[in-house]
Amino acid sequence: MKFGETSMGSGERIRAAAELIRRERASRPVTVVVSAMSKITDLLLDTLRAAEHGDSAAVAAGVATLRERHLAGCRELLAGEKLAETAREVEGIVAEFGLIAGGVSMLGVRPPASVDQAVATGERLSAAIIAAHLTAAGTPARAVNARDVIVTDAFFGNATPFMEPTRQKAAAVLAPLLEEGVVPIVTGFNGATADGRPATLGRGGSDFLASILGAALDAAEVYIWTDVDGIMTADPRLAKDAAVLDEVTYREAAELAYNGAKVLHPRTLAPLVERHIPVWSKNSFNPAVPGTKIVQEIRAAGGPRAVTSMSGVALISLEPRSAVVSGTRIVARALEGLASASVELLAMTSSSYRQSFSLLIRQDDLRRAMASIEAALSLELAHGYLEPLEVNEKVGLLAIVGEGMQGAPGWAGHIFMAISREGVNVIAIAQGSSELTIAVVVSREGLEKAVRAVHAECHMGENARAHSGSN
Ligand code: ADP
Ligand code: ASP
Ligand code: MG
Repeated sequence: MKFGETSMGSGERIRAAAELIRRERASRPVTVVVSAMSKITDLLLDTLRAAEHGDSAAVAAGVATLRERHLAGCRELLAGEKLAETAREVEGIVAEFGLIAGGVSMLGVRPPASVDQAVATGERLSAAIIAAHLTAAGTPARAVNARDVIVTDAFFGNATPFMEPTRQKAAAVLAPLLEEGVVPIVTGFNGATADGRPATLGRGGSDFLASILGAALDAAEVYIWTDVDGIMTADPRLAKDAAVLDEVTYREAAELAYNGAKVLHPRTLAPLVERHIPVWSKNSFNPAVPGTKIVQEIRAAGGPRAVTSMSGVALISLEPRSAVVSGTRIVARALEGLASASVELLAMTSSSYRQSFSLLIRQDDLRRAMASIEAALSLELAHGYLEPLEVNEKVGLLAIVGEGMQGAPGWAGHIFMAISREGVNVIAIAQGSSELTIAVVVSREGLEKAVRAVHAECHMGENARAHSGSN
């Protein structure tokens, strides 16, 4: 069971999470993964940025808020000796964060490895508090630092786990606790390199950590507890009539996650697919509703099922100026550039007539991507075989997902009609060979409008409600 930031948002929310753990544990062993308390990861990152700029007042304020939020949580949940003991533990972890922030201030730099070590303190604090609360209330639990379980590469800030060593560590560290009847409370978000340096799995990475552990422990099921009733036909903040999908396939869920549905971290499903371990997306604020079950196959529902969107993206265009150069070679070089800078390609489109190509990436990766592509194509650019690279940051990605679109003609027409009726400019279109997703790059200012228009045009909300029959 993984509890996200809002599900760990306050003493009251932690109490509710503990109750869900207790209830489940009454029938079978449970391993828990926790996120930091809500907004704490942002606070830690902001404080480190302030430290880098030598803003000591902001650092002191950040550390004070960190301390206060967690001590308040302790006071709400614990009493007597357990309170004193846990408060000391909280003070110790906060002090460690303060030391790293102090080092960053002194040096005026924020090395990625130090950021990862510092930012992992959010999850250590929440794990310590819920473990103490569970134990005090009669369910033995122990906080486990994921550093001691999850073995990763050294790509700080977005590390990838190595499954085999992780499996061995999970067996050595977690299995004995489970056998003793102790609930392991594993910190989300982070692991460590084989030589013990803490590394985080990327923002929102606690979902991914839960699925890594689920696979390593051969779990029967993985529950991702969050603040919405499950995976919905659209982000409920954008489309008011979005409805919960009672079942989706691994492939649909992965497409939605990769295309911006924040409800699941994009890499969550990969470790579970081959073992066919089902994943549930559930609401800790409303545990009575079943949520969404993510499985291998479902009774096919026709047509597009959900729409998701991503802002914060940029489109890089490559246009050969001369027929002397092969467009294919240019794309190959550009992709090599992206790969060597570890930049993820979100979508790619091409036009064969003018041999122009566009690559969609995250804005956060743009500087690195441009430097790397320009280096890879330096000769072509220097000789004028290629137009200077063009970047458009005023774009957004819209993705329409559904297994039922495969081999069913006509959906693209509906979708583009709906977008054009809103007067939103379509800049590029990409459809994977699986026909599971239609990805559309639109002007940024039209993105939200396009989501609502496509959601309504394809009757996604109504179809989901009719299918579940319950909501
Ligand atoms: P947690 O802290 O529990 O990991 P997140 O904030 O990361 O929670 O993810 C949950 C949020 O994802 C929801 O509050 C919702 O606004 C957003 N979201 C975006 N797209 C979807 C979708 N298709 N279905 C459900 N939620 C979505
Ligand atoms: N707390 C981390 C973050 O905000 C990890 C997570 O909650 O999934 O990115
Ligand atoms: Mg999340």
